[in-house]
Amino acid sequence: SLSEKLQNVFKNLRGKGRLTEADVKAGLKEVKLALLEADVSFKVVKQFIKAVEERAVGTDVLESLTPGQTVIKIVNEEMVKLMGSETTEIKLRPSNEITVIMMTGLQGAGKTTTAAKLAGKFKIKGRKVLLTACDVYRPAAIKQLQVNGEKQGVEVFSMGDQNKPVDIAKAAVEHAKKHGMSVVILDTAGRLHIDESMMEELVEIKENVNVDYSILVVDSMTGQDAVNVASTFVDKVGIDGVILTKLDGDTRGGAALSIRAVTGKPILYVGMGEKLSDLEQFYPDRMASRILGMGDILTMIEKAQESIDEEQSKKMVQKMKKNQFDFEDYLESMRQMKKMGGIGALLSMMPGMGGAQMKQLEDAVDEKKMARIEAMILSMTVKERQNPSILNPSRKRRIANGAGVDISEVNRLVKQFEQSRKMMKQMPGLMGGKGKFGKKG
Ligand code: GDP
Ligand code: MG
Repeated sequence: SLSEKLQNVFKNLRGKGRLTEADVKAGLKEVKLALLEADVSFKVVKQFIKAVEERAVGTDVLESLTPGQTVIKIVNEEMVKLMGSETTEIKLRPSNEITVIMMTGLQGAGKTTTAAKLAGKFKIKGRKVLLTACDVYRPAAIKQLQVNGEKQGVEVFSMGDQNKPVDIAKAAVEHAKKHGMSVVILDTAGRLHIDESMMEELVEIKENVNVDYSILVVDSMTGQDAVNVASTFVDKVGIDGVILTKLDGDTRGGAALSIRAVTGKPILYVGMGEKLSDLEQFYPDRMASRILGMGDILTMIEKAQESIDEEQSKKMVQKMKKNQFDFEDYLESMRQMKKMGGIGALLSMMPGMGGAQMKQLEDAVDEKKMARIEAMILSMTVKERQNPSILNPSRKRRIANGAGVDISEVNRLVKQFEQSRKMMKQMPGLMGGKGKFGKKG
């Protein structure tokens, strides 16, 4: 993955105080490749890399991060910024007025499906929605909208295929007014390629109906092409927001970055499947890590940065290496883990972790269990905490009584402690050494 590549690029640069131009250039070459691989448009990549480079050169490498992680962090922050930083929602007019939403985009992008998905979302909010069949070129299109409308329990307005889309749109708004409906969604026709008459038709609707949102629906699998499509729609029709579909596929999602950069319009939702419930809010930060192909490693970097006490963890790593890790450290590490949302949360973000190991560690920091474990450790003498091997049955009984737990629980704790100790030794990457919580130097 990219983050591995970056760690590699930077492995000889540990302990540097500042990112030099050479460091940054080396790292950004990898980022550039990753973006192109994710199908971000070349022009956008070039601009983006330049912006990151300007910002990164001369940046301090934070104590808790490696140079590689520092570059990733900057890349990520800039990417999130570029995608709009926060989620944007469709704002409906008050219920006594009519909000008109027009779906636009190429054929097969997902307009009809997404129209029905949106209808469902507004219905849940208590709105009366009217889906409108403005695609008069494919006989199957009207039927498809009717089937989806029925599934959603939303009325579908259609005038067959002998009327002009603009007239259908006007009639639909009238119909909605008459029946106390407050959202009209126009499902329009697409073409396989950008086409003058398609654009004219959309413009004509906009000139005759008060369209609040022109939404461009884009298939995220189309990658580079998506940019041309988007900029043409921006120029010829004007759009207010974008919905990216088919993100459930194996696309890296580079289209999200390109389209946001090219249109300057927010991505409103993302389609995550064929089912009508598969429409989700767009999160720029998640998309950034998807594009960079890093799992949630960024979240991990941030959490580690926020809550790991540098000196503490340094000491602990040393102890683990020497196998001197004792119950006092165990207590301290549990408290640290808790601050980070549990080791389970942390490990689940690491690629390649999972299964039984994780479950075990997660159990160890379960909140309620934590309190009991804390009580047991506090009932130990300092000597016992430092030398768990002296814990014989009579000492264990005393501890159990002190903590108000059953002796079997003390036994379990000791056993778990030994297992953790073993596990920590097997995970040098987690607690020290290269990256992750990473000390440099
Ligand atoms: P339109 O021509 O723009 O109206 O596109 P459709 O709504 O007919 O969708 C084209 C195809 O893409 C259909 O088979 C949909 O089921 C499928 N589709 C739409 N959105 C998604 C999505 O988010 N994920 C997946 N996997 N398929 C989608
Ligand atoms: Mg359609």
